[in-house]
Amino acid sequence: MAAPFKLAPLPWDEDALAPTISANTISFHYHKHHQTYVDTLNKLVQGTKYADMKLEEVVRATAGASDAKDKQLFNNAGQVWNHDFYWRSLTPAKTQPSGKLDSAIAAAFGSKDELIAQLAEAGKTQFGSGWAWLASKDGKLSIEKTPNAETPMAKGVNCLLTVDVWEHAYYLDYQNARPKYLEAVLGKIINWEFAAENLTKEAQAVRAAAE
Ligand code: MN
Repeated sequence: MAAPFKLAPLPWDEDALAPTISANTISFHYHKHHQTYVDTLNKLVQGTKYADMKLEEVVRATAGASDAKDKQLFNNAGQVWNHDFYWRSLTPAKTQPSGKLDSAIAAAFGSKDELIAQLAEAGKTQFGSGWAWLASKDGKLSIEKTPNAETPMAKGVNCLLTVDVWEHAYYLDYQNARPKYLEAVLGKIINWEFAAENLTKEAQAVRAAAE
């Protein structure tokens, strides 16, 4: 998908994650914050070499830029990608890690509860705005945290799921209590099937590269 970049549809109804995340929060977060990143990105790429790139390519090409306009471009492209990925990391369906994801979690963390505890800690300790991630490199899982619009994807790390820890993600429902938001989201609405799909895609890409 090259410019104009579009606001991808939400994978569920706006009230589907309530009461963990209210329809009010989703409405502001998606229609105001996410939409604004899309609109700003489209303005910024006009007439530049980035207009012909896919969203992921724009994120990678502008990551770590020192030029002020490229930095602004990165912030908006990163936030569009991160939010698309965040919505798909959440689901009202009660999913569980299975198959290869389940064994990768056991290998890296011992248990799903320990993984959740470490992800919650990463989200809690991300000072200011940012993101907590479950990532994989060659099938080995790790926890990452990034500030602002940054994403492990820009560094070639495969992302499995993310949780937005910007205040706008939780303030209407939890006020300042970021740990409560993290506990509720990680315990109730993580889309473990999405994470498993992302792990499978990485294995397929590694195999394809080796052939
Ligand atoms: Mn957000």
